[in-house]
Amino acid sequence: MPAKLAIYPGSFDPVTNGHIDIIVRGLKIFDRIVVGILNNPGKNPLFTVNERKEMLQASLKTFTRVEIDTFDGLLVDYALHRGAQAILRGMRAVSDFEYEFQMALMNRKLVREAETVFLMPALSWVYLSSTIVKDVAVNGGDITGLVPPLVQEAVVNRVDR
Ligand code: ADP
Repeated sequence: MPAKLAIYPGSFDPVTNGHIDIIVRGLKIFDRIVVGILNNPGKNPLFTVNERKEMLQASLKTFTRVEIDTFDGLLVDYALHRGAQAILRGMRAVSDFEYEFQMALMNRKLVREAETVFLMPALSWVYLSSTIVKDVAVNGGDITGLVPPLVQEAVVNRVDR
């Protein structure tokens, strides 16, 4: 059987324990996962794409079946280019549903074979997002246990300036 590859796309600004939870679950289904960081300067990110890539690489260095990459443009074009069987996305709550549903159906309209697989994180990560981590840190709150320690240090240093 050919190896099953999933693309896990997102901003990862920065990676959180919720993202890692989805990757760990995804590895039970897929042989390999490529984390695709979308290069989208319009989003006014806290970290550059390269910084995000380095944090993901450091946080996932023991995961031999995970690769970190970056991409521009349409996700389906990137997924085709990488030869992926599926797009992996996390589904936290009903609030994620409408956007994710729209994206998955549009991707399938663009490329008929584009399948999206949604995985639910552990309950502890359901309320977690990169945005809330940044908001808490900017206001001096403690983000321990929400992101890998090296990410915590980078976030605290960045918002401290
Ligand atoms: P995007 O800008 O594409 O939403 P994110 O980095 O915010 O990029 O999220 C990437 C993917 O990870 C999305 O599918 C999102 O739903 C999922 N995700 C983000 N945070 C969590 C979390 N705490 N638990 C599970 N999935 C999550």
